Amino acid sequence: MFQKIKEAVDRGRRFLVATHIDPDGDAIGSAFALCFALRSLGKDAAVYMRDGIPYRYAFLPKPEPMIREIPKNGYDTVLIVDCGDLARVGDGHETLNHLGYLINIDHHDTNDAFGQINIVDERASSSAELLYLILKALGVTFSYEIAISLYTAVLTDTGSFRYDSTTQRAFSICEEMTGFGVVPSRVAGEVYESHPKERYLLLCRVLGTLEFFSNDRIATAYVTRDMFATTGTNREHTEGFVEYIKEIRGIEVACVIRELDNGKFKVSMRSKGNVDVALTAQKFGGGGHQKAAGCTIEGDISDVKNKLTGALSL
Ligand code: 5GP
Ligand code: MN
Repeated sequence: MFQKIKEAVDRGRRFLVATHIDPDGDAIGSAFALCFALRSLGKDAAVYMRDGIPYRYAFLPKPEPMIREIPKNGYDTVLIVDCGDLARVGDGHETLNHLGYLINIDHHDTNDAFGQINIVDERASSSAELLYLILKALGVTFSYEIAISLYTAVLTDTGSFRYDSTTQRAFSICEEMTGFGVVPSRVAGEVYESHPKERYLLLCRVLGTLEFFSNDRIATAYVTRDMFATTGTNREHTEGFVEYIKEIRGIEVACVIRELDNGKFKVSMRSKGNVDVALTAQKFGGGGHQKAAGCTIEGDISDVKNKLTGALSL
C-alpha cells in the first residue's frame, strides 16, 4: 500500500512538510512526527505552517528551524498532511505544485486527491494514524519526539477517544507510544488543563450568545472581534468551545461562528446525529468530516446564522 511513498522517500533529498492554517493537534503532531522521522532517515526535512503553534501545543518538541514562508525552491518533495485540499495550506499554496513532487496524506471525507501520491483514508481517526502506518512501512525507529507527536495528534483528533473514529488501532497506537516515554497525564495536563483565565472570560461572553433553532436540534454561539479585544484573547482560546455546545442533550448540530479579521465568519460545526456537516460545509466552500467540519461564510452575524441554519435544513 505504501510502495509509492517509500520510493518517493528513497528518491527524495530535501523534504518540505506542510499542514493547514489554524493548525490543530493532528496537523501539528502529524507534521512534526513526519519531519523527525525523515531526519532520522538521514533526509533534509523542515515543516512549514502559516500560523504559529497554539499555546496548548507549545510543549511539543519542535523540529527547528521551522519555515515561516512558502519557499520557491530548494525542495524536491512536498508532503502535505491533514489538508482536505491544497488551499488549506494558506496563501501561496499554488507554489507548492511547482516546488516538488506532491504527496497528500489525509483522513478528511472531502479530500480532493490533489497530490501526485494520495494516501487518504477517511476511516482513519487522524492523519497521525496514517503517519504511524507510513513510518512503520518506511522502517523508521520511533523516538520520544515522534511518539509524543503522534500520541498528541491521535488524542486530540479523537476528542480524547470520544468520537466514532476511535478504533482499536487508535488506542493501540497510543498505547505503543507510551512505551517510548509518553506520559498520558502529562499530555492531558498540557493540552486540556493549562488554559489562561482569559479563555474563560471569553467563554462567558460566547455562551451568552447561545441560541437554539429547528426545535432545539441546532445550537449556535458566536465570537466577535470585539469579544476577543475586550478579553485579550484570540482564535487559539476558542479551540474546543464547539465541543461544550455539543454536550447539550438533544442537540444534533453544534456551531461556533467566529468573526475573522477580514469581517467574514469562520464556522466550526459538530454533529452528533445523522447530519453530515461536511456536506453543509462544502456548500460554503469548506470541508471536513461527517461529524466535524468547517467553512467560511460572508455577511453579518444574523445573515451567517440564517445561511447556516438554512443549509443544515433540519
Ligand atoms: P474545526 O471546527 O475544528 O476548525 O474543524 C473541523 C474539521 O473541519 C477539521 O478536520 C478541519 O480540518 C476541517 N475544516 C475546518 N475548516 C475547514 C475549511 O475551511 N475547509 C476544509 N476543507 N476543511 C475545514
Ligand atoms: Mn485531522
